[in-house]
Amino acid sequence: MATFSDSRQKLVQALCREGIIRTCAVRDAMLAVPREEFIPERLRSSAYSDSPLPSLAGQTISAPHMVAIMCEALELKPGMIILEVGAGTGYHAAVCSEIVAPDGAAPPGHVYAVECVPSLVEFARANLSRCGYAERVTVIEGDGTMGFPQAAPYDRILVTAAAPAVPPPLKMQLKEGGILVMPVGGLYSIQNLLRLRRSGESFAGEALGGCVFVPLRGHYGWNE
Ligand code: SAH
Repeated sequence: MATFSDSRQKLVQALCREGIIRTCAVRDAMLAVPREEFIPERLRSSAYSDSPLPSLAGQTISAPHMVAIMCEALELKPGMIILEVGAGTGYHAAVCSEIVAPDGAAPPGHVYAVECVPSLVEFARANLSRCGYAERVTVIEGDGTMGFPQAAPYDRILVTAAAPAVPPPLKMQLKEGGILVMPVGGLYSIQNLLRLRRSGESFAGEALGGCVFVPLRGHYGWNE
């Protein structure tokens, strides 16, 4: 029987062949993080199908190709300080931390991941700590549409739930030259993955393609 590690390698190879993974950094990070450890136990046999899976509380863990697309678009480098809005299971934060906070990086990078559902905050913390990411990723419970001003400004910001527009506090917490990647669009309808680059008080935007994410809640999210 194929091991999780075999299946992980196969999936990552396929994403490289398809041109979705373009850099060694993203390839190595996705090879390093055991996705099976970040999903509910009954779904572990599906850990390496390239699809979103249910997590807890009606939420999902993104498909591996979407994690790869976002990591490539973010142009992550060792030493960067990252904000993720929508920590969910902690998987995407772990992948980012493999790139920004490898062993011995100087200055040390870090990922701050905000999650608003308390059961997921606990789930993410437990998964990250069991897999050795507790020192590189901090999970914060709260409304991520307000960002996390205590550790701002950020080199990179990713939002893994879709909103009607980019929440203004996130733009303000991005460093000069920083990149923000997030899905913007309708509720459960086609959304666009947007990349913004900050230059002073202006933000150059670029649409990276269609996607479907769960809704971003909170002050600047959807409140149905
Ligand atoms: N990145 C996650 C998957 C994200 S799913 C992973 O790797 O598993 C989107 C997550 O965003 C959900 O867990 C949802 O609870 C969370 N979320 C939605 N609105 C939020 C908000 N305003 N602040 C923080 N988290 C939010």
